[in-house]
Amino acid sequence: MADVIQLLPDSIANQIAAGEVVQRPASVVKELLENSIDAGARSINLLVRDGGKSLIQVIDDGMGMSETDARLCFERHATSKIREAADLFNIRTMGFRGEALASIASVAEVELRTRRAVDEVGTEVCISASEVVSHQPVGCPVGTQITVKNLFFNVPARRKFLKSDSVELKHIITEFQRVALAFPEVAFSLSHNGSELYRLAPSGLKQRIVGLFGKAINQLLIDCATQTSVVNIGGYIGKPEGARKSTGEQFFFVNGRFMKNPFLHKAIMNAYHRLLPPDTYPSYFIFFDINPQSIDVNIHPTKTEIKFEDEQMIWQILHAAVRESLGKFSIVPPIDFESAPGFNIPYLPKNAPVTMPTIDVDPSYNPFDEETQGRKQSFVHHRDSVTGWEQLYNELPQEPNPIQSRIETFESEGMMGKAPENTSRFYQFKGKYILTTVKSGLMVIDQKRAHERILYEQYIDGIQSAVNVGQRELYPQAIELSPADFELIMSNAQELSELGLEISNLKHNTISINSMPVSSTVTDPAKLVENLLAIMHENQAVPFNDAHHRIALTMAKASAIGYNKPLSQFEMQEIVDKLFACREPNLTPDGKKIVTLIELDEIEKRFR
Ligand code: ADP
Ligand code: MG
Repeated sequence: MADVIQLLPDSIANQIAAGEVVQRPASVVKELLENSIDAGARSINLLVRDGGKSLIQVIDDGMGMSETDARLCFERHATSKIREAADLFNIRTMGFRGEALASIASVAEVELRTRRAVDEVGTEVCISASEVVSHQPVGCPVGTQITVKNLFFNVPARRKFLKSDSVELKHIITEFQRVALAFPEVAFSLSHNGSELYRLAPSGLKQRIVGLFGKAINQLLIDCATQTSVVNIGGYIGKPEGARKSTGEQFFFVNGRFMKNPFLHKAIMNAYHRLLPPDTYPSYFIFFDINPQSIDVNIHPTKTEIKFEDEQMIWQILHAAVRESLGKFSIVPPIDFESAPGFNIPYLPKNAPVTMPTIDVDPSYNPFDEETQGRKQSFVHHRDSVTGWEQLYNELPQEPNPIQSRIETFESEGMMGKAPENTSRFYQFKGKYILTTVKSGLMVIDQKRAHERILYEQYIDGIQSAVNVGQRELYPQAIELSPADFELIMSNAQELSELGLEISNLKHNTISINSMPVSSTVTDPAKLVENLLAIMHENQAVPFNDAHHRIALTMAKASAIGYNKPLSQFEMQEIVDKLFACREPNLTPDGKKIVTLIELDEIEKRFR
C-alpha cells in the first residue's frame, strides 16, 4: 500500500492553529494590543467596526519592523521574543509563541504598515488568507499599523458562529480593559463605528481604573499591597458597599499579564466573608509581581491561565493582604485582627509543608445575617482533601436541602395550569419558596421565578397594547456609568422606554432616569439600572431574538422580588393568584421550572 501521510501546506496548518488562537474578534484585538505593548508603544489606538467583524485596526507608536521582519512576522513560529528553549522560563513579554499574526492572516485580510525610526521609508504588506497580495515600500509614521478586515471571510462556518455586533463588542471591550489596566502608563483609545468609547491618557493605576469604570468607583477603592520574598502584591480592592451582582470588575494580573484564577478569587471572597450582601462580588484589581521562573504561562493557548509554583502560599499571602486592607479601613472590626494569627505572612522555607489559612472571624460581628449571630465561624481548609481548585469550590458549605432532591424526582405534568384549590394558607420556606397545599399534595413555588413570569407577561401585554406607563420621577437622578455600560443601556433605551423606564442621555456617560416601571419591586433607579446591566452582561435574557421579548425578560428579572425577602400572606396569595392567571405558569420565559408538586403519595410513602 502506498504511504498516506502528507505534510499539510502552511496555509492549512495556520488555519488549524487559528482555531486555537483566534476564536472571535476579541482574540485578534488581544493579540494585536499585546504585540504593540511588546513593541514598546507609548500610545495605542484601537478602531473597530461592526463588533470587529468587518474591521479591527491597531495603530501604535512602537519600535516598528524592518522590511524583512514585516514579511517574516506572518510566518508560523516567527517571533523576536524567544531565541532558545531556556527563554521560555523567563518570559517578560506578552507574546512569545510567534503564531498570532500567522493565524490571524490565515483567516482574514490583513494590511500591515510599519516603520522603524532608523528607516526612511516604511513597509506595507498585504496578506489575504495566508497569501501575500502585495509587499512594497510606503511612507508612514514610525510604529506599526495593522488592519484586519473581514475576519473568517474564508471560513464561513466560523463566521456564522460569531454573535451579534454588540456581544462581540463587549468581548472586545473586555480585552481592551485588561490590557489598558495592565499598562496605565500607555495611552489608549477605542472607537467603535466611528464613535469614541474610551480615550485614556497615560496615568497611574487609580486614574486608569476611573477612566475605564467611571468616576463613581474612585471613592470605593482601597489600597492593597504587600511585599514578601515570594511575591509582591499591589493594586486596589473595592469597598464592600461597592460590591455588585455582576462580575466584570475582578482582575488579576501576573507580571502585567491578565490571569483568570478561580482559586485565588476564593482567597479574596473568603477575606470579604460576611462583609458582602449575598450574591455580590467586590471589585478588585490585583497585580502580582513574581519571578517569571516560578510561574508557567504556557499551559493554555490563549494564555489567561497561569500556573504558580506555589499556589497555596500565594493564596495565603493574598488573603492576608486583603484582610489587612479591609481592616486598615475599619471595614472589619479591629478585634478580628487580634484573633487572627494568619496576618503575619510566614516566610516558610521552600518545600516546607504549607497549610491553608485558618482564620477566626469575630462571631459577634455580622452585618448581614442576623440568623447566624453568635455562631462561631472558622474557615479551615483541609489541604489534604484539596487537590485542585475545583475541589475547593465543591467544599463550599452547601445548605442541605433534603426536600429539594425529592422535588426533582417528581414530574409535574398534569397538575399545572390549575390554581391551588386550598389557598388559605401559605408558608414561606427558606426565603425562597412558597409552600401551599393542593388536593393532591404540597405545591412548591419558586417566588422569584414566579414573579419573573408574572412581570414578563405583564410587560409583553403592555407593549402590545402600549399601556406600560412609567411612574414619573420627581427628581430624576443622574447616574454615571462606565462607557461600556452606558453604551449597553443607551442601545436599549427605546425598548426600555416602552416598558416605562425612561432614560435620557445627560452628558458623557451619564444618564438620568425620568420614569420607572410601575410594577417594579426595585424602586431605586440606580439599583434597577445596576440589576438590568448585570442581566445584560450575563446575557441571561438571550433566548429571544426579538428585542421586545428580550427586554421584557430582562426587565422582569431585574425588577422581580428577590430571594430572602419575607412575604406576607397577602403577598404570597397575590403571587400565586397572578401566576396561575398567566398563560404559562409552569416555566419562566427562559425555561426554568417555577412550580413543583410533592404528591401526597410521596409523603405517605415516607411514613411507611
Ligand atoms: P509573538 O508576539 O508571539 O512573537 P506574533 O505573531 O504576535 O508572535 O508576532 C510575531 C512578531 O512580529 C513579533 O515577535 C514581533 O517581532 C513582530 N511584531 C508583531 N507586531 C508588532 C508590532 N506592533 N510592532 C513591532 N513588531 C511587531
Ligand atoms: Mg504576539
